[in-house]
Amino acid sequence: MQNIAIFGATGSIGDSTLDVIGKHAERFSVYALSAHSRIQKLLALCLVHHPKVVIVPDEIAEKKFRQLWPANIAMPEIRVGSKGLCETARDPEVDAVVAAIVGTAGLPSAFAAAQAGKRILLANKEALVAAGSLFMETVKKNNAILLPLDSEHNAIFQCLPGGKNNSQVKRLVLTASGGPFRNIDPSRLSAVTPEQACKHPNWSMGRKISIDSATMLNKGLEVIEAKWMFDVDASKIDVLVHPESTIHSMVEYIDGSLLAQLGNPDMRIPISYALGYPDRIESNTENFDLSRLLQLNFELPDYKRFPCLKLAFDALQSSQSDCVVLNASNEIAVDYFLKNRIKFTDIAVTIEKMLDGFAGTVKGSLGHIDDVFELDALTRSHTSELLNNTH
Ligand code: NDP
Ligand code: MG
Repeated sequence: MQNIAIFGATGSIGDSTLDVIGKHAERFSVYALSAHSRIQKLLALCLVHHPKVVIVPDEIAEKKFRQLWPANIAMPEIRVGSKGLCETARDPEVDAVVAAIVGTAGLPSAFAAAQAGKRILLANKEALVAAGSLFMETVKKNNAILLPLDSEHNAIFQCLPGGKNNSQVKRLVLTASGGPFRNIDPSRLSAVTPEQACKHPNWSMGRKISIDSATMLNKGLEVIEAKWMFDVDASKIDVLVHPESTIHSMVEYIDGSLLAQLGNPDMRIPISYALGYPDRIESNTENFDLSRLLQLNFELPDYKRFPCLKLAFDALQSSQSDCVVLNASNEIAVDYFLKNRIKFTDIAVTIEKMLDGFAGTVKGSLGHIDDVFELDALTRSHTSELLNNTH
């Protein structure tokens, strides 16, 4: 029996993870669940999954949880804030941590899990984008096991023998759906609404990653994530737009063989693979019917339509600091867009301004995780300042 802590349990990855875990009660036990704003949903999840621990963001949320909790049922232990998340990541009772908090808010607890040598099921790509080499060094040093939940990385992991990097790999090919605006006239992009941008053609996801998919920065973050996770040079990672989202990514070997993983666009498949690894377990997803597939299409990404993808490749080539700035300025810009305070096309403009202006002024290397947190926080405040002054 494995004790699982799910950070970001109230989100889309949290839902899919709990759905899979619910089918395998003999194998997994829900030890801890965390929420940020959806305390009522956390309570509902507790009544189904009976965790021993919950983590809420602050004392106000703690009070709300206590008030809502039914008097006749034993209450789980309540831990608070990032400290509570990190304590849970290190908790000796926890076997595996599902890192599914969105944004760099998920980095401290994912990093704590790496320090504690846990089995980490990583959805939170922003952690690897911001802390890349430090994160991977910490995983290695503490014999943690890092298993990707991101569907592309999970596909690549499945196509690499033993899940390891291999000198016989020629390149990794990350597939991308192209999002909701793959075919829209680029002149109309400045007028698209958050609702239109969140309507992904194939996947159902949280709002931040949905916007990242629409700008294709998501794919850029995934290229950075893949570089660190699989220890592959950026020049060996390609992106291919594949609108059907049937092939979730590929590994090309030096002999010319290409291995691909195919399946429905349903996160319960990669989640099941990581939860069960090295076993395969049932994911309870719909049957995948190849005979109903009319065709598989591929095209090269259009950097003019998707400037964020190019910005991510450039940041990766440039420095770890640039990756932190890219990621943090994007989080702020996406938040402003979701609140209708800037246009969709302002997201790329903002990131570029932060990379061109602010990132150049950053001194020193990111030798310690606190340096990453500091630069992340500084970028956020500079980006907010920029947007408040110009919009
Ligand atoms: P959601 O927005 O659906 O869920 C985010 C979760 O994080 C919620 O539980 C939310 O709590 C919590 N949260 C938000 N802000 C904070 C914070 N400051 N501190 C602590 N917890 C916080 O996102 P997704 O589930 O879609 O994505 C989660 C992560 O997984 C992202 O990094 C995303 O890139 C990655 N991912 C997602 C995929 C998907 O299919 N959804 C696919 C691949 C990767 P609450 O809801 O209570 O506010
Ligand atoms: Mg993905």
